[in-house]
Amino acid sequence: MQESSRIRRLPPYLFAQIEERIAEAVKSGRDVISLGIGDPDLPTPPRAVEALAEAAILPGNHRYPSSAGLLEFRQAVADWYRTRFGVELDPKTEITTLIGSKEGIANLPLCFVENGDISLVPDPGYPVYTSGTLLAGGEVYNLPLLEENSFLPDFAAVPAEVLRRTKLLWLNYPNNPTGAVAGREFFERAVAWAREHQILICHDAAYSEIAFDGFRPPSILEVDGAKDVAVEFHSLSKTYNMTGWRIGWAAGNAQAVGALRRLKTNIDSGVFQPIQYAAIAALSEPVASDLIAVYQQRRDLVVEQLSALGWNVAPPKAGIYIWAPVPSGYSSLEFAEHVFEQTNVVITPGVGYGRHGDGYFRISICLPAERIAAAFQRWETQGIRFA
Ligand code: PLP
Repeated sequence: MQESSRIRRLPPYLFAQIEERIAEAVKSGRDVISLGIGDPDLPTPPRAVEALAEAAILPGNHRYPSSAGLLEFRQAVADWYRTRFGVELDPKTEITTLIGSKEGIANLPLCFVENGDISLVPDPGYPVYTSGTLLAGGEVYNLPLLEENSFLPDFAAVPAEVLRRTKLLWLNYPNNPTGAVAGREFFERAVAWAREHQILICHDAAYSEIAFDGFRPPSILEVDGAKDVAVEFHSLSKTYNMTGWRIGWAAGNAQAVGALRRLKTNIDSGVFQPIQYAAIAALSEPVASDLIAVYQQRRDLVVEQLSALGWNVAPPKAGIYIWAPVPSGYSSLEFAEHVFEQTNVVITPGVGYGRHGDGYFRISICLPAERIAAAFQRWETQGIRFA
């Protein structure tokens, strides 16, 4: 049977392929160290696990949840926004629950993008911005994130004929994969530009709580008038080590939140209530400082080890990734392949995040320091250096 053009337009999901490769290698007895996927290895806070267990016993929680999410969960999100960012949100109209932020990111284009409409998507960038747009029948216009621009997009470089067809602008700071951060003044510029061109900004803030050296990533919703043009995606996945639980939210522009809710009531039935109670318990406290300390130590270790092998990489101010250039003579795919064959260490080739990622590879710091050190020991033994 012919698959739909929609599904045929989708690129293969890079991480699915990498996971298959790892599984094969492990099966054949290789001691693989994966610095690939950004899936936290540390446990979910006990208060969340306990809240899940308590709620799971109650039969009332075994029934269909509401698609928009418990009002108590949305209220907890609103309280969290007030405390963390000083932003006021109406939980009834400006917040909706997601089955992980990936779900909302993939679905939102269905609410706003018609055939032939354009999403502006950062390159390199999280692949789901592209997939969601393609599934909705839209087109992607890539905004290059270049090192010389601190990995921020150059709005002025978008041609007028593209702007006329643009519905959505995707942004993501702290950024995956580059580790770049954006300050309040960048978000102010983005909001003003989106207002001028009648574009909805979709800001993905999945990594806003993992930050170092005193840096506090802002929310785009802190900008005056941002709610007129912006919706922000958030997740408990990285902040509270809850990737497997599948819960996040979209907040901000009421029209975007309302449209997403309307779509979702038609295609899903929300998040299991005990997971929402667990998320409420998680949100009642900020990100754990010992979690940040662990990531900071791992970040510093990676930067130090890379430096000993000839790389010169600035420590990222936030997130769980180090973005580093591939040695000359390799494409990013070739380099990742070479490293894997020589050392059984998995790194992510930058091209997986777009054409402009090709000169780079990404290391994620979701492994204990000893394993990270062991990976670089293998690089040293095999002569893998930046030359
Ligand atoms: N956004 C970015 C930039 C990510 O890297 C990820 C996951 O790695 C997500 C969103 C999705 O997170 P989740 O669906 O677990 O909330």
